[in-house]
Amino acid sequence: MLHLFLYTNIMQIHHIGNNNSILNTFISEIRDIDIQKDSLRFRRNIERIGEILSYELSKNLSFSSFEVTTPLGVKKINLPKKDIVLCSILRAGLPLHQGLLNYFDDAENAFISAYRHHPKNDSTFKIIVEYFAAPEMENKTLLLADPMLATGQSLVAVYDAIKNVGQPKEIHIIAIIGSTEGIKFIEKHFPENTHLWIAAIDDVLNDKGYIIPGLGDAGDLAFRSKL
Ligand code: URA
Repeated sequence: MLHLFLYTNIMQIHHIGNNNSILNTFISEIRDIDIQKDSLRFRRNIERIGEILSYELSKNLSFSSFEVTTPLGVKKINLPKKDIVLCSILRAGLPLHQGLLNYFDDAENAFISAYRHHPKNDSTFKIIVEYFAAPEMENKTLLLADPMLATGQSLVAVYDAIKNVGQPKEIHIIAIIGSTEGIKFIEKHFPENTHLWIAAIDDVLNDKGYIIPGLGDAGDLAFRSKL
């Protein structure tokens, strides 16, 4: 008998900005056309959002029991396993990466470049992955940071490159603003053991692949414009 299986990946989406918290202040400042012009403040706000998302996702990590010795005694405490790799997509991912690193002090780190190449000089593009510096990923907990989850194509291209250096045991994608379309796209390409930790979700993606209302170009706002 022929059996047909329908594979549907179930990625868990954690929309952190859905609940009112101080996170909203930082999101509103990175979106605000006047405030976002201050690139130092923009980078620091992205970093602060990274810290909040780190705290939220840390509740979902594997923990083991340890003992900590104080000057006056010993206390048991559960601590996250030290198998974390933080991976960021250059260049816009750098301030978000710093936010994650502020909390996961001794994580291993990976940096991968991905850019949109427009071969026909129109709005169609292909993602090119070039620079790749990563540790072994087999069985590790991968935290993959991409501040703007627009089409989702960069995340998928970077994940394809990562698979060449091992299959992580669980994946946590960290994004600041995502489009509904981009989230649907990555859902189809990431395995079941994937979580998305996202601060804000916007409904529209324009024909140039920008999130609307979004915030504009995160790389340019953090690091000024490029050629
Ligand atoms: N990258 C950005 O920086 N902004 C977008 O809206 C989409 C991709």
